[in-house]
Amino acid sequence: MSFTLHGLGVSGGIAIGRALLMSHATLEVSHLTIAPRMVEKELARFDAAIKVVKSELLAMKETTGDAPSELGAFIDIHTMFLEDPELVEKPREIIRERRCNAEWALVQQMEHLVAQFEQFEDAYLRERKFDVVQVVERVIKELLGHPSRAVMKTAKGVTEEMLVVVAHDLSPADVIAFKDHHFASFVTDVGGATSHTAILARSMAIPSIVGLENARALIRDGELLIVDGTRGVVVVNPDPRVLEEYQLRKDQIELEKSKLKRLKGAKSQTIDAVDIQLFANIELPGDVPAALEAGAEGIGLFRTEFLFLDRGDMPDEKEQYEAYKKVVKGMAGRPVTIRTFDLGNDKDINPGSTLGDRVKTNPALGRRAIRLSLSEPRMFQTQLRAILRASRHGKIKLLIPMLAHAHEIDQTLAALEQAKSSLRGEKVAFDEDIEVGGMIEIPAAALAIGLFLRRLDFLSIGTNDLIQYTLAIDRSDEQVANLYDPLHPAVLMLLAHSLSMAEKVNIPVSVCGELAGDPQLTRLLLGMGLRIFSMHPSQILEVKSKVLKANVAEVTPHVRRMLRLDEPGKLREALDKLNA
Ligand code: PEP
Ligand code: MG
Repeated sequence: MSFTLHGLGVSGGIAIGRALLMSHATLEVSHLTIAPRMVEKELARFDAAIKVVKSELLAMKETTGDAPSELGAFIDIHTMFLEDPELVEKPREIIRERRCNAEWALVQQMEHLVAQFEQFEDAYLRERKFDVVQVVERVIKELLGHPSRAVMKTAKGVTEEMLVVVAHDLSPADVIAFKDHHFASFVTDVGGATSHTAILARSMAIPSIVGLENARALIRDGELLIVDGTRGVVVVNPDPRVLEEYQLRKDQIELEKSKLKRLKGAKSQTIDAVDIQLFANIELPGDVPAALEAGAEGIGLFRTEFLFLDRGDMPDEKEQYEAYKKVVKGMAGRPVTIRTFDLGNDKDINPGSTLGDRVKTNPALGRRAIRLSLSEPRMFQTQLRAILRASRHGKIKLLIPMLAHAHEIDQTLAALEQAKSSLRGEKVAFDEDIEVGGMIEIPAAALAIGLFLRRLDFLSIGTNDLIQYTLAIDRSDEQVANLYDPLHPAVLMLLAHSLSMAEKVNIPVSVCGELAGDPQLTRLLLGMGLRIFSMHPSQILEVKSKVLKANVAEVTPHVRRMLRLDEPGKLREALDKLNA
């Protein structure tokens, strides 16, 4: 039966493919139906995996006799879970009743248990959900027959490009694993327009939809799906006529995309010869080729926290240095803006990491980003030293996330000076004049921007967070995604104020939030005075095509008039006129 689901399109275009259902905690789990005669075999497979993991834990306990007591305690808790009927018996019932594979049954039960743990008032008990997830992951790895993040299993002859991933949500760790794959699309039940899931979709340039609410419950593995990322629509089991229509539109979009490639070498300049700089946002060193391919003039935002979100420990100085060096060398002389870790919000630290317990219940307003870095001086020094060391290989700029207070800048500059002086003491070369910039992501920072302009070399406006905090909407919550509005007059006022104040004192300012990559907003931003844009590599050429057709002298007065409006309908109308 054909039916349609509606969500929030976060990455445009059309994908057509077969559904691959994935679980929330472990990317590699798919939902398979097994033949009745295979049920006993599946149960035996499940029991064997539990047994192996139990003996692994036992062996671990024996070999770590003198290790700190927390390690022993953690092994005991995991062993205890493996003896609990909730985790050992319930999945067996699910395998029998639903005739599904052991991995899927186990993850269903895990999610049920995680939900129960989340209800606990007591923080210690609540945290035990991470132990459940970890122990389940061990068993899943055993079931899949290999120790590390698995390659996803698909039917014979079906390549990743033919698959649409259907998930409840994707964790930032899943997001990293995704980068090595080439799926047609992904759709999720939860997530907002600027959640990490959405950002990833755009960075991979695959059509995607979030906030579908119950896609995972309604879609079955292997069903044919059309994903219209522009309109936020998923058509499940389309009839042949609909399929043909979408196939045609898909071909058209691909043709237009390939035409855009011709713009790669074109100078990024408006009709009236105003130079516009187009930079790339990246998450990992592996994103550099895409940035170069799109003709980026440099990296405007390197989200360094992605370097270790899929693991429990922090990378040491050498590992970070190698990663930063790889990016700066890869960019061959073009500037690279490295943002210090923005951890503690949606980009949570893995359970088990030393910083895990610092994340509170309201993380977006808690100790995240620079606040966390300043409270962890050793971690911060390690990162600053690694960035400084890499700065001798090219042009690196340092960017500080989530600043609100002058003293945070002062403390950051002092920490940087400390890192510099330790390197000088060791006679290690670095760029003494490294530029330091701050992100304007908190309304307080946009309003009191003078503080920032006086202390820093450049600014970058993070509109994803700026909108979240201005409109008081959680950017990863699909229930308030409808309230996310880049055209809200308050957002426009803060943006316009920040840009004009920076211009007055001649301090470079860029926008690196998702707004910068939205071609519908290019003229508006140009008219507001923006000259430096930073976005996913996949968006650069389309934005460039808008820049090439814009005339700053013409759009500026129109935008000035627009900024005096505060009626949403009138603002939309004015934007349409501006883009006409
Ligand atoms: C932003 O907030 O706009 C931004 C660019 O940073 P992030 O999306 O990583 O929070
Ligand atoms: Mg941000």
